[in-house]
Amino acid sequence: MTESTTSRRVLLKLSGEAFGAGRMGVDPDVLRSISAEIAEAAKHVQIAVVVGGGNFFRGAQLADAGMDRGRADYMGMLGTVMNALALQDFLEQAGAAARVQSAIEMRQVAEPYIPLRAERHMEKGRVVVFGAGAGLPYFSTDTVAAQRALEIRADVVLVAKNGVDGVYTADPRTDAAAERLHHVSYQDALQRGLRVVDATAFSLCMDNGMDMRIFGMSPDGSIRRAILGEDIGTLVST
Ligand code: UDP
Repeated sequence: MTESTTSRRVLLKLSGEAFGAGRMGVDPDVLRSISAEIAEAAKHVQIAVVVGGGNFFRGAQLADAGMDRGRADYMGMLGTVMNALALQDFLEQAGAAARVQSAIEMRQVAEPYIPLRAERHMEKGRVVVFGAGAGLPYFSTDTVAAQRALEIRADVVLVAKNGVDGVYTADPRTDAAAERLHHVSYQDALQRGLRVVDATAFSLCMDNGMDMRIFGMSPDGSIRRAILGEDIGTLVST
C-alpha cells in the first residue's frame, strides 16, 4: 500500500435510497457503478464516505407506524452498517482498499469509530466508510456527514442526491419555474427553507466554515467528478 500523495480530502455522503435503487436492500449494479467511480477517484483524493440507510429503515417512519422512536432509529442505524459492508465489498472488487468504521461497536464486522485512525487509513490511500450514523437516535446521516467531515478535517462535504441535481429555488418536482442555484450561502438556504439537506447539517457546516457541494448521481460519473473537484451541482458555503 502506497502512502497517498494527495492532500485533498473529501467526505462523500451517499443516501441509502441510491443503494436500493428505490427498493429495500442493495442493488449490485448500482453498487458496482458507484464503487468504480469512487475507486477511480481514490487514486487521486483521500475519501471518506458516510452511508445512509433509507433503503432499509427510517426511524421516523417506523415511529409513525407505532414503534418506539429510539429503537426504530437503532434499526435505521443498523441498516447503514449493512450498506457500509456492501460498499466495502464492491470497493474492494473495484480495486480500492476500504475500511468500515461503525459508531455502534460491533467488532466482528467493523472497526470502531476512531477519527485519527480513519485519517491514517486515508493517508494510506484507503477509503473509509462510516456506518451506524452517529450512534445516536434522532440524528440523520446528513448531519453525521457534516460532523465527520469536520472531525477528520475534510475540505468539503459532497452530497450525492438521487432524483435532484442540486439546490433549487423551489421544489423542482412540483414547481416548473424552479431554478437550480450554482451557489448559495447556508444562511440563504436556511432562510428560504431550501432543505435538500437537513437544517442541522447546514447549521453545523455554516457554524464551522465547511463547504458543501450538492449534486445529482448521474451515469456520466458525477460522483467521480465531484470528488476530483469539478464544479457541478450547487456549492453551499458561508
Ligand atoms: N439514524 C439515527 N442516527 C444517526 C443516523 C441515522 O438514528 O446518527 C437512523 C434514522 O432512523 C434514519 C436512519 O438511521 O432514518 C437511516 O438514515 P438516513 O435516513 O439519514 O438515511 P438516508 O436518507 O441518507 O438513506
